[in-house]
Amino acid sequence: MAGLLFGTAGIPHSSRTLSTIGGIKRIAELGLGGMEIEFVQGVKMGEAGARLVAETAAREGVKLSAHGPYFINLNAREPEKIIASQERILQTARIAAICGAESIVFHAAYYLGDPPEKTYSAVKRYLAQVMNQLKRENNRVWVRPEVMGKPSEFGTIDEVLSLCTELDGVGIGMDFAHWHARIGNSNSYPEFASVLQKIKQRLGDEALYNMHIHVSGIAYGKKGEIKHLNLKESDLQYVELLKALKNYEAKGLVICESPNLEEDALLLQETYHKL
Ligand SMILES: [Zn+2]
Repeated sequence: MAGLLFGTAGIPHSSRTLSTIGGIKRIAELGLGGMEIEFVQGVKMGEAGARLVAETAAREGVKLSAHGPYFINLNAREPEKIIASQERILQTARIAAICGAESIVFHAAYYLGDPPEKTYSAVKRYLAQVMNQLKRENNRVWVRPEVMGKPSEFGTIDEVLSLCTELDGVGIGMDFAHWHARIGNSNSYPEFASVLQKIKQRLGDEALYNMHIHVSGIAYGKKGEIKHLNLKESDLQYVELLKALKNYEAKGLVICESPNLEEDALLLQETYHKL
């Protein structure tokens, strides 16, 4: 099996039907390896539907992940918003497990003006409760806070790696486009390699062999991420990124979030296999 599998964030545009099952079949037809199911507006899939998704993905040989709802903030001021956020992560993990997905990603929190350390301790406390509940349910899905693209959003690489070291079952959702947009650089071979080196140092080789990566072109400014772009319309040095991933023997799923979805996913896959 190749080191990395490539796929789309959601159903490919060229899918004949706009259903998760149609999307999985299209991924297989295109020769891609994976798909992220987007529950960004809420988890609306039922258990019976999720079982059909699992059967289809297994039959077609497509690896799945899931993206949790946008309406999550583990640093919210109101206790009811914290509880609702935890519930949304749990719902995503439960349905993802039935779908046969190995990972979920989500946007963990906003600082809301709090110092990063205070935000970190809130996220850690409330995510620990979620992880304990999943453990009780024997749910083994990897729960991955995403590295985020705006300085107002919790989710630097160090913050996410610290959560990974402190909480069992938590992994990194490594979004290279977000990180580039957030800090302005991190767009060259040595910089991509240093990110991978840091992951290896803090989490060990296993983490590099079990990666969940987001890539797209990205527009950014002083406040970080503005919007996603197609790779060739952006400055993202994706060939250098793929070289670093190959040299570090990274394995796992690379999800393409460019507006053109499968076009860039195929571009990434072809480029990677030619290296
Ligand atoms: Zn995301």
